[in-house]
Amino acid sequence: MKFDELGLDPKLLAGVASLGFESPTPIQEEALPYALAGRDVVGCAQTGTGKTAAFVLPALNRMPADHVLRTLVVTPTRELAQQIEVFGTAMGKHTGHRVLSAVGGVGLEPQIKALKSGVDLLVATPGRLLDLLKRGDLRLDRVEIFVLDEADRMLDMGFWPDVRRIFAALPKKRQTMLFSATMAPEVMRIVATSLNDPVRVEVSPPSVPIELIHQALYPVDASQKVELMVALMKAHGDFDRTLVFCRTKMRSDAVAMGLERAGIPTLTMHSDRTMEQRMKALQRFREGKVRVLVATDVMSRGIDVEDITHVVNYDVPSNPEDYVHRIGRTARAGAKGTAFTFVDIREFPELDAIEMLIDTEIPVEELEGFAYRERAVPRAGRLAARKKRKAFGGRVMGRRRR
Ligand code: AMP
Repeated sequence: MKFDELGLDPKLLAGVASLGFESPTPIQEEALPYALAGRDVVGCAQTGTGKTAAFVLPALNRMPADHVLRTLVVTPTRELAQQIEVFGTAMGKHTGHRVLSAVGGVGLEPQIKALKSGVDLLVATPGRLLDLLKRGDLRLDRVEIFVLDEADRMLDMGFWPDVRRIFAALPKKRQTMLFSATMAPEVMRIVATSLNDPVRVEVSPPSVPIELIHQALYPVDASQKVELMVALMKAHGDFDRTLVFCRTKMRSDAVAMGLERAGIPTLTMHSDRTMEQRMKALQRFREGKVRVLVATDVMSRGIDVEDITHVVNYDVPSNPEDYVHRIGRTARAGAKGTAFTFVDIREFPELDAIEMLIDTEIPVEELEGFAYRERAVPRAGRLAARKKRKAFGGRVMGRRRR
């Protein structure tokens, strides 16, 4: 499916094209027709699925660019608010809508001034929104579209009372879209009481049968990770499209620099880059002009590239689910994929958690001829040993009275 089959305004189509989006993601494909028709929508989707466009595009499509606050988006964190603002602003360049974010931690005055000069779509975090309302600097009586983003995280972060207050402050006649990765009972209750006959759309993160992925563990001292990466790429000629995961932005820059220095052209993908820069980088990677892309977990969610041959966990992820998401980027559509994990002794606890989660002991491999410095190698049979310990621990805990 293409964007132009969805009945979007040509200006928005131009906006979407300017970001290099070629076709709608599954959540966009499912939600857009209903959202454009003005229906209430409950979207069960995580960040990274393209949900931002799934609510920003219909809002801008349906509302005139007259700088009256007709669309309100509430999201739990500053970062998310700013990401939505960036996307909205990119679209607004084409449609004439003004998009503003109002978040805590930055000065109130500039936000008030911007609001006074007229805004079509406001993205806010709950606390700042309520502040602005209380001070009388913001009125919601012309709001026609309300989006509650990441409802489950709002709940986790203790924003639920604020969320209720915001719902109470909104005009009754409106379109509501609610997005949440999980449907906790409180979220379901709000859906039942505050949405009008909503359509439910759902996408699950793409899952790849883990058996199709060749997984291997490379024990290595932290100081030798770049060296090993370079040596592996030289030893195997088949790293055609390689995604390298690092824990932080700084580390991804350091790896990219190390690879470049060894003569391996490398791209990095992180939030410091503008959307345009990221899209350009992705395009070059997709076209195979550059074979290595280094990313953090957060950024990787937006990387929609087929035919990834290798995933390299340069750092072991601290969240075990991230391991599954990372390696699931390879072996798409039945193709074979390889996932290498570099592990330093300090990362053994994270490795434990991953192996428990996937219930598999990732086999240890080593690169022949590589001058390994001293390093710790996880013992074979470790998973079974850990399970036994855990079972024993569980029984002891079970006997205790609370
Ligand atoms: P989101 O889930 O809204 O945070 O989006 C995740 C990432 O996917 C962002 O970096 C978007 O720019 C990107 N994205 C969203 N929709 C598309 C699309 N249709 N094609 C390509 N990339 C997209």
